Amino acid sequence: MSEWNFEKSITKVKKYSIYGMMENFLKNDKQFRSIRPDKKGKCELCNKPFVDNEYMTLALNKGKDGNLLICDSCRDEAIENGVSCNYRKIN
Ligand SMILES: [Zn+2]
Repeated sequence: MSEWNFEKSITKVKKYSIYGMMENFLKNDKQFRSIRPDKKGKCELCNKPFVDNEYMTLALNKGKDGNLLICDSCRDEAIENGVSCNYRKIN
């Protein structure tokens, strides 16, 4: 019996509403990646991989996915759109 395998690609669009941010929230280091492998070491908005030891911004998101860890360029874009960003002091 023959079979025909067809792959259909489906594009999903997800929407987020960011209403506040905390800069320098967590560092993308070895320890973080071992505790949170689900975060995949990527910005949760644009999917850009974080570099080792890069500080991530916490974005407060109204959607069901909850709060997100985002990169500097997404943070800057949110600031340009009027979202306030608090700064967490690093010791
Ligand atoms: Zn990003």
